[in-house]
Parts: sequence; C-alpha cells; structure tokens
Amino acid sequence: AWFKDPALTRVFTLLNADGGEGRVVGGAVRNSLMGLAVNDIDIATTLTPEEVIARAAAAGVKAVPTGVAHGTVTLVIDGKPFEVTTLRADVETDGRRAKVAFSSDWQTDAERRDLTINALYVDAKGEVIDMVGGLADIDKRNIRFIGDAATRVGEDYLRILRFFRFFAYYGSGRPDADGLRACASARANLKRLSAERVWSELRKLLSAEDPGRALLWMRQVGVLSEVLPETEKWGIDAIPALIGTEKALGWKPDPLLRLAAIVPPDAHRLEKMATRLKLANAEAAWFKAWAEAPVINDELSSAAFARLLYRHGTVGIQARLKLALATARGKAEGDMQEMARSARLSRLLGLAQDWKKPQFPINGGDVLDAGMPAGKQVGETLAALEEFWVEEAFTPDRAALLARLNDLIR
Ligand code: ATP
Ligand code: MG
Repeated sequence: AWFKDPALTRVFTLLNADGGEGRVVGGAVRNSLMGLAVNDIDIATTLTPEEVIARAAAAGVKAVPTGVAHGTVTLVIDGKPFEVTTLRADVETDGRRAKVAFSSDWQTDAERRDLTINALYVDAKGEVIDMVGGLADIDKRNIRFIGDAATRVGEDYLRILRFFRFFAYYGSGRPDADGLRACASARANLKRLSAERVWSELRKLLSAEDPGRALLWMRQVGVLSEVLPETEKWGIDAIPALIGTEKALGWKPDPLLRLAAIVPPDAHRLEKMATRLKLANAEAAWFKAWAEAPVINDELSSAAFARLLYRHGTVGIQARLKLALATARGKAEGDMQEMARSARLSRLLGLAQDWKKPQFPINGGDVLDAGMPAGKQVGETLAALEEFWVEEAFTPDRAALLARLNDLIR
C-alpha cells in the first residue's frame, strides 16, 4: 500500500525526469520485504540537493533542506515527509563517522551502507535491486555487514551498535559470526563516538519488542559494558521477566524502564550515566525519580500508599512497582508467595496509574490573612497544616483547615 501512495509517485515523477533517478532505500524496502510496517520512506537519488530543491520549486512541492551538507532534502507531499538523499561514496573516515562525497553510482552508494538488509533499493516500477546479497539475508533474517565486517566497523564504530540493534529487531538465530567478531574486536573504540549517536542507537535497541537476545550477545562479547558499564553490577537477567510482563499486561515497550531493569537504582551513578550519554532532561529526570523513589512495602494500605504518592510523585513509584512486579511475576510460577506478592503489587500499580494529586486548599496568603506576621513561621505553619491534611487522607476541606489554622495561631 505504501508503494502505491500517490505522494510517493509524485516523488518519483519529480526525480526521474531528464536523466535523474530516485529509488526507495533502507528501512522502507527492508520492512516491506519482511512484511512489516513501513514507517518513513528514504529515497536515494542521482540528483544533487540543489537539483532536487530546484525541481521541487518548479513543481510547487515543499522542500526542506534538512541536511544539505550530507545531501539530504526532505520533500513534503500531502503532509508526508520523504527524505531524499544524493548517492554517496565514502572518501575517508576516522571511525567516528565516514566523510562522504556525492556520487552518481548506485553500486558505490549500496556498498557504503552498513548492513546488507539496509542496502536494497526499489525503483519507480517497483523492482527490487540487490547489489549486496541483501535479499537472501532478508529471507534468512541474517544481519550481516556489507563486504568485510572488520573494515566496515572500522569506518564507523557506531555500526557495532547498529549491528545489535538490527539483530534485536530483525535477526534470528545467532548473530553473524564475522560481524560478532568484528564488533567484539573493535568495542574499545565505542568510547570515541559522540554521546548523542550512542544513546540514540541504544534507545532504539532498547525499544525493540524484545531486546533480550541482542543484549545477551552484547554482554557476551563485551560490547555492553563499553557503553553501559552500569550493567556490570546486576547483569541483564531481569530483562526476560520484564518483557514477559509487558506482553502479559499490555505495557508498551519503554526503553527507560528496560534500562532501569539492568542498572542499579543509585542516584549518583545514574546522574553520571545521564551526563555521559547526554540523556534528554526528561529522561534524566525519570531516572532520578526512579532512583529516589522509596522502596515500597507491597502490603501498604491504600491510604498509606496515597500519602506516599503525594509526597514522592507517581513517576518514580510507578517505575519501582513495575520492576518489582516484573520480578515477582518472573518467580511466580508455582510459587504462591510470589503470586500473592504480584497481586498486591498490581493493586498498588493500579492505584498509582489512576492517581490524581489532590490540591492542598490553603496557601501562604491564607496564613497571613489569619493574622500571622510575615516570616519563616508562615512556611512552617503551612507545612504543618499540609502534613495534617495528608495524614487525614486529604479529607479536611478548606473551612476545616482554616479553623485549624486559627487554633494554631492562637
Ligand atoms: P529505521 O529508520 O527503521 O530505524 P533505517 O534502515 O531507515 O531504519 P536509518 O538509521 O534511518 O535506518 O538509516 C537509513 C539508511 O542509511 C540505512 O538503512 C542504511 O542503509 C544507511 N545508514 C544509516 N546509518 C549508517 C551508518 N552508520 N553506516 C552506514 N550506513 C548507514
Ligand atoms: Mg530511516
């Protein structure tokens, strides 16, 4: 269906006139051959970015110069983006990212890509063009570097992580032996990559339906501890139970929760991890909330648990509960105690998910209005009142609290 999209037809019409050519490449081709959903459509073309922009302008098509230096122009048709990139050839590399030059040779463009399954093209007629043996690897779900694995890894060490990422999503059986060996030998160079590229790849890997096998192999060959030394302490044993629980309970894959399952909840180390990997602020905040959340007694009453949620927020507590629940469920088969524990944790998690933080109905202005002189006692009095209100299960209303405030002041 994606191939019949009139918007894509327009892209082809635009690029294929006057000796130019465009072909779909990469993820869209790979996924459709595997019978999987196609997300974004990348196009390779013999035209230069300037030519693409000029043709788009002449045809009244919106063109956004999203990466002209690397040859990429994004065409937007019917609101859909198409990343159109000029054919490229590697000219040199320092292992951190290949420097590329524009080219008009399809074979060269295919050979500078990373994996065979990612270097297939589909032309305007819908014909698949395979110059690197990618079709056979698609059939076998074999994740394999194009050409000599060690050379390809040496050109861009990010390919180590991409190898495992694509294995997590599309691989079957054991990872390709040459690829595995090349990744293992070059693993120390991962430190030289920019944090942004590493985390972006890791986040994708951790978002796979089941990243478990890929993580096992990464650990096996020493790649995991290069990028996530935090995982050395506990290993990755918690992953299968988490994935099983996600599936059973319909949780959507959460790369942060998966990472939390394999690193210790140590606020200081996690802060260092966030800095090293340059996590987004929201991601770093999530880890902080998780690490700082209290250990939860699963036998807490609803009232006591509500107080905990009010004081600590729901984000970190939910993460704690989900991981505890996954662990309990992992051990629950035939174990009545763990089964009962799972049920109690599920109940608390339900409460946390439905939690709406109640609004404390009194503020500093009320304390001043009640006749207390400005000063630090205002804050202290307010805090004491709030404490009382929380302990009373958030039930005292504004009038009751004002009455108590008057008593306190007198
Ligand atoms: P998805 O978008 O589903 O993650 P994709 O295959 O489109 O998968 P991208 O990261 O978007 O992956 O890259 C697009 C294409 O560019 C890849 O299919 C691959 O051919 C090539 N490519 C991307 N990164 C590299 C790299 N580091 N080295 C060599 N080729 C790469
Ligand atoms: Mg893509």
